[in-house]
Amino acid sequence: MARYDIVVLGAGIVGICVALHLQKRGRAVALVDRRGAAEETSFGNAGLIQREGVYPYGFPHDFGALLRYGFNRTIDAHYHPSALPRLAPFLWQYWKHSRPARHAEVARRYAKLIEHCVREHEALVAEAGAQDLIVRGGWMKIFRTGRERDLRFAEAERWRRDFGVEHRQLDARMLQDEEPYLAPVLAGALHWTQPIRTPDPQGLGQAYLKRFEQLGGTFLQGNAATLEENGTAWRMRTAQGPLEAGAAVVALGPWADVLTRALGYELPLAVKRGYHMHYRAAGEAKLNHPVLDVERGYFMGPVRRGIRLTTGAEFALRDAIRTPVQLGRAEPIARDLFPLAERLDNEPWMGARPCTPDMLPVIGPGPLHRNLWFAFGHAHHGLTLGAVTGRLVAEMVCGETPFVDPAPYAAARFE
Ligand SMILES: Cc1cc2nc3c(=O)[nH]c(=O)nc-3n(C[C@H](O)[C@H](O)[C@H](O)COP(=O)(O)OP(=O)(O)OC[C@H]3O[C@@H](n4cnc5c(N)ncnc54)[C@H](O)[C@@H]3O)c2cc1C
Repeated sequence: MARYDIVVLGAGIVGICVALHLQKRGRAVALVDRRGAAEETSFGNAGLIQREGVYPYGFPHDFGALLRYGFNRTIDAHYHPSALPRLAPFLWQYWKHSRPARHAEVARRYAKLIEHCVREHEALVAEAGAQDLIVRGGWMKIFRTGRERDLRFAEAERWRRDFGVEHRQLDARMLQDEEPYLAPVLAGALHWTQPIRTPDPQGLGQAYLKRFEQLGGTFLQGNAATLEENGTAWRMRTAQGPLEAGAAVVALGPWADVLTRALGYELPLAVKRGYHMHYRAAGEAKLNHPVLDVERGYFMGPVRRGIRLTTGAEFALRDAIRTPVQLGRAEPIARDLFPLAERLDNEPWMGARPCTPDMLPVIGPGPLHRNLWFAFGHAHHGLTLGAVTGRLVAEMVCGETPFVDPAPYAAARFE
């Protein structure tokens, strides 16, 4: 039987970062996934490392928005009516945590993680020699109306004051200078200047994995469902044979609940699904920054493969049939805004953002077990917070002083 200090379950961006940080600290680490590295949610996201993301995406509270979502015809949100009975308890809690005063409290806790996101990725990028996988220069929210633009400018001023988030305010003309291929129908843009991005999220995960293996870490194929407690250790089966480890870290993203439920935890987890499609930019057209078309509700950015169009939240059961209706609605609007040529993928890609109702990730010990650790529930910001989470978990597992107070993210808050 192969023996390790720690087994990390799940090789998405979160598990890879946890494994790398533990291995850097001299621990013998096995990283286990039933597939290859970063082949699920961490494969096809929009690639942003969102320093500005201090307010996790809340459930809308204004009546007009709720009414629009109720008709189920918007681009930014879609739901499966048949899933609502199962999702109702989650949605009710999510709605409560999104009330303005509570949401502000959540943001204060969340910002403590977000403020480190760029620095922690930069450190891993340097460690992995992956500079070619990072692009600096931020991203933009673009606006169709002066009203929305000015509301968001005011919000950005508050975030600068409260959270040190930097931005530039662009009027229609300045935006045309920076993005000459966008149709001249926009009222301006909010340029978040601090975020960085990767044009290949899976490639970044794989670069970190390579560094993990260079440091002596082991990547294995296996099913997390085979994990069992054996006295003071954990055992599981892998395709490369059985293993035993002193500690286990659950980093299974949207599948975390499958294992945590089997281990006796009742955590209120759900998913928000999202889709992407790639397009060739027509002719000489070039998009210099990723853009969120705020009032229409889709995101478009330049990646290695072409222009990646990504969609907002789909409330559905994780394994329900794929329904990429948001992509279908967004595509003609995106084509009017930027000259997109043909689709480059046969099928839309789908991922499932792993969500908690209070919008905070679950990071810390599994309260019912010794030597069990959780690292999941990062929702819209798993790439953003992967490196921060990796360091935080490694510091806790190794008994070091955590660089961020982990208390707000503890699983025990749901007991
Ligand atoms: C459309 C879209 C756009 C997004 N854009 C951004 C963005 O710009 N910036 C950002 O920060 N975030 C973004 N996100 C969110 C981000 O992609 C996720 O939060 C993140 O990828 C979650 O990472 P993870 O490691 O927790 O989960 P995953 O990447 O899903 O990894 C979980 C791993 O567990 C493995 N696994 C599951 N079950 C088992 C089992 N039984 N045994 C063994 N292994 C198992 C899976 O194979 C998988 O590799 C976006 C998401 C979507 C859908």
